[in-house]
This record gives sequence, structure tokens and C-alpha cells, in this order.
Amino acid sequence: MKEFDYIIIGGGCAGLSLAYELEIFDKLKTKKLAIIEPRTKYQRDKTWSFWKVIPHNFEDCVKKNWKNFSLNFPSEVKHLKCESYPYQTIDSNLFYKKVLNKLVLNKNIKFFNNINDVEKKDAVIFNSVASLPDHKDNIWQHFQGIEIETPKNYFDDKIFNLMDFDCDQRKDVHFFYTLPFSSKTALIETTWLSRMNDDSLKDYDNQLKNYIKDKLKIEDYKINYNEVGAIPLFYPNKQKNSNVINIGTAGGMTRLSTGYTFLNIQEQSKYLRQNLENIKGIDNFEMNKKYQFLDKIFLKVLKNNPEKMVNIFQKMFEVNETSIIKFLSNKSDFKDDLSIILKMPKWTFIKALM
Ligand SMILES: Cc1cc2nc3c(=O)[nH]c(=O)nc-3n(C[C@H](O)[C@H](O)[C@H](O)COP(=O)(O)OP(=O)(O)OC[C@H]3O[C@@H](n4cnc5c(N)ncnc54)[C@H](O)[C@@H]3O)c2cc1C
Repeated sequence: MKEFDYIIIGGGCAGLSLAYELEIFDKLKTKKLAIIEPRTKYQRDKTWSFWKVIPHNFEDCVKKNWKNFSLNFPSEVKHLKCESYPYQTIDSNLFYKKVLNKLVLNKNIKFFNNINDVEKKDAVIFNSVASLPDHKDNIWQHFQGIEIETPKNYFDDKIFNLMDFDCDQRKDVHFFYTLPFSSKTALIETTWLSRMNDDSLKDYDNQLKNYIKDKLKIEDYKINYNEVGAIPLFYPNKQKNSNVINIGTAGGMTRLSTGYTFLNIQEQSKYLRQNLENIKGIDNFEMNKKYQFLDKIFLKVLKNNPEKMVNIFQKMFEVNETSIIKFLSNKSDFKDDLSIILKMPKWTFIKALM
């Protein structure tokens, strides 16, 4: 059986981000890396978006940058700016192509379909296959998005819509999300923050069809791409094996209140590369404890009071836009946090804290 210095289990976002980071910083010139990935073909399967609060390795995979965004609530439409931290979208297909084209040039990197094809004993293992606790009470961000194309100019591609809450909530938390890539193309998503056991929320096709027709007033369009997903808004099970370092979703890189994971994965990859020589002696790269604590309360409020969430999101976006962007991207300071906390309905949050 083949022996390797490093094994990455799962060649998805986290596995490939780490492999790319190690490769471009020359960490694989004399060391061998095995990547275990069952899929036989890479194609576009995700659209990763985030506010660019830190530099990252994938600027050339960015499909679009926006400096303006809007939010719709039943009582108002808010227009906000994000000039200091533009919102970026990465097409996973561009990402996979860029990383794989680079990795294939290094003979020390090999791909396998199955972990049983490699010798694990003396290797450092980076695992990105999440083991998720199976509690029906857990909250997920589940969604379907379609990229549509209209024959005539329809979209203003200078501004994206982060959340449109002016829609049927069905006693849960529901919004639409629109990323206009050009005047004729946009990704439109229907998104729920809820438990996963209610199948009546999953008529995504109908939700999108009605929203496009009734709200966006678009009759004529074709669908170029479809993406369905569910992001766990809870932490995965921790593995007890000290030889295994969990990365990506499996390593707790998802911000639980937002589902944003992509940039956290990039920060984790950088940390692991910087500490590679002492990898067994370092602390796990973790989401800042402050956000773990605040997100836990936020999700408790969401679980207990889904009907209050539209109002809570509206209040949250009353603060200075830079503060809220930094907060949602784990880069807020005490002043930013305080400005948001003070906007929240006190009793609802105190009850959740108790
Ligand atoms: C549709 C979708 C859209 C998202 N959009 C955003 C976004 O806009 N912004 C953001 O920040 N985050 C987003 N996320 C969250 C997060 O960024 C992604 O889920 C990201 O792909 C997580 O990376 P990962 O490597 O942890 O998991 P994955 O990318 O899912 O990689 C896991 C890999 O493991 C492989 N695998 C599975 N089983 C095995 C096995 N037994 N052995 C070996 N390999 C295995 C899989 O084939 C896969 O390639 C999105 C998630 C989804 C699902």
C-alpha cells in the first residue's frame, strides 16, 4: 500500500483549498500528499459568496463583485453599500479547474477514490467529511438556487439582494436571495432557516417559479443552472483520533448564524500551512469563541421564535453597514458587536440566554 506524509479526505472546498495552499507555498516539494475523493468528475455544484474581508487565493475565480446590496422587509426596502468589503461570488467550477490544473503538475500529489487504497498509519490526516449529529431539532439553512437568463435586459447588476423577507414565512424563516451577474442573468435562491423534518417547505421549484413571476415580474426566461443545498447550522461531531485534523464543515468552519464557510476555510488552510512543521503540537483552528457564544443564543432565539426573526434581521441591519458586514464575517470589534446587541429585542435574547 502507498505511503504518504499527508492525506486529505475529501477533495471539496476545504480539501482542495488546503492542498492548493500547501502547493503554492512549496510544502509538497519533498513531502507526499494523497487526496481521497470519490467523485469521478468535477463540475459546477456550488456558488460560494462572501464579503471579502480578507485576501484569498481565488480572486481569478470570482464571477462577480458588488459594492451595493439591498434587503427587503414587508415594511421597507433598505439599500446599503459595501465598498470597503465587496461581496464576491466564486463559481465552484472555476475553483475546481484552477486547483486541479495546479495540483496535477506535482508528482508528489496523488488522487484516490477510497481511503483503503492508502496507508494511514504514519500520515497526518486532514478530514473534510463531516460526521453530523442526527438531532431532529437541529436548524439547517436549506435552499435551492437557479441561474436564469432573460432574453431582454432585466437586472441591475450593480446591486444584489441579500435577503427578501417579503414572502410567505409559513411559520418558519424564509427569504429569497438574488445575485445578478449581468443585465440578463441572475442566480435566484429560495432559502429556509428551519428544522429539516418539514417536507412541505421543500417545494423549492414552485417557490422560485412564483417569486420570479409574481415578485420579479419575469415571464420569459430559461434556467441555465440549478443548485440545491443544506448547510448545517450546528457543529459536527468531534473526532477523537489525535492523528486527524478536521477541516472545512467537518472542522466547524461554518459560521452558525449565517452559513458562511468559504473564507473561514481559507483562513484555516493558511493556519495549517503556517504551522505544518509542528502540526501535531498546535491548537485546532476554531471559530472565535465570541461568535460561537453569540450564534448559539441567536439560533436559540430562531428556534423558539421564528415569527420574530424578520423583525430581528431588520433591526440588525439598522446599524452601520460596515459593522454588520464585519460582524457577519467574524471580523467585528467590541464597538461593532455592541451596536448590534443593543438593537436586539432584550427580553427575547435574555430568555434564550437563560
Ligand atoms: C450548495 C451550497 C452552496 C453554498 N454556498 C456558500 C456560500 O455562498 N458561501 C459560503 O461561505 N459557504 C457556502 N456554502 C457552505 C460551504 O462553503 C460549502 O459547503 C463548502 O463546500 C464546504 O467545504 P467542505 O470541503 O467542508 O465540504 P465539501 O465541499 O462538500 O467537500 C467534501 C468532499 O468530501 C467528499 N466525500 C464525501 N464522502 C467522502 C468519503 N467517504 N471519503 C472521501 N471523500 C468524501 C465529497 O465528494 C466532497 O468533495 C455552501 C454550501 C452548499 C452545499
